[in-house]
Amino acid sequence: LIPFCVSIMLIGFTIISFVFVYRNMLAQQRLADMKNEFISNITHELKTPVATVNVAIEALRNFNALEDTVRTKEYLDISAIELQRLSLLIDKVLRLSMFENHNVSLRLESVDIVTLTQEVLTSMRLQLEKAKATVHFNPEQSILPMQADRLHFTSVIYNLLDNAIKYSPANPVIDIQLLTDNQSTVFTVKDNGIGIPAAYKHKLFEKFFRVPDNDRHNTRGYGLGLSYVAHIIRLHKGTIEVNSEEGKGSTFIIKLPLVHE
Ligand code: ADP
Repeated sequence: LIPFCVSIMLIGFTIISFVFVYRNMLAQQRLADMKNEFISNITHELKTPVATVNVAIEALRNFNALEDTVRTKEYLDISAIELQRLSLLIDKVLRLSMFENHNVSLRLESVDIVTLTQEVLTSMRLQLEKAKATVHFNPEQSILPMQADRLHFTSVIYNLLDNAIKYSPANPVIDIQLLTDNQSTVFTVKDNGIGIPAAYKHKLFEKFFRVPDNDRHNTRGYGLGLSYVAHIIRLHKGTIEVNSEEGKGSTFIIKLPLVHE
């Protein structure tokens, strides 16, 4: 009886290992497919802003820019928006390759998070205007500087605000809150958008994950922003959480230590 039981256990173990390896292979394959799709889509998308800026410059050349200031402003605004889009796309490509090579390292410095947030808001002015978004950001005077990587944290704020706009189709209202105590900074971005179905909340920070019926809302993306954000927050030894109600909006809450030991 004992050899029989051992054989059954061995067979069972072999089957379980096989299923495990097979599922792992499928997951790897799925990730590889998504990566290929990402590369082919983004290559195509990179061309659009370049072409649009080219057209705008060509147009500026063809009339007297100093005389027709209204048209000049219009073409310059278009160029600024497209260049911002281009830089975001390039950012995404760089981010993916950073992920692949596991070589994201932080350059920590003392960062005034209030000023940093205001700078991001200024750089997004046109995008916010285009989306008819209202932003509330009234930080207290007493917000302490924190140790952070300026470049990566700028991208974190940008990603959260970009999502808040993208996933709030009608007149987005975005509340940014900053609180500090002696140990940590709490940075919150709240929107009044489409929200996130409870069933998908746990997958939100996975690479390439997008809520399946996003396309209904005509938003474009690759499901890389939040996985990047979560990775950067983890490197800062912080946490990120999301509270959301479908149809009402989402709140992303980041908590970061003020100083790294
Ligand atoms: P992307 O926006 O490029 O798809 P992200 O990683 O930034 O990628 O976000 C992953 C998914 O999480 C999005 O596709 C969307 O379904 C959901 N999501 C992110 N932010 C919000 C938000 N503020 N409101 C509703 N859904 C969101």
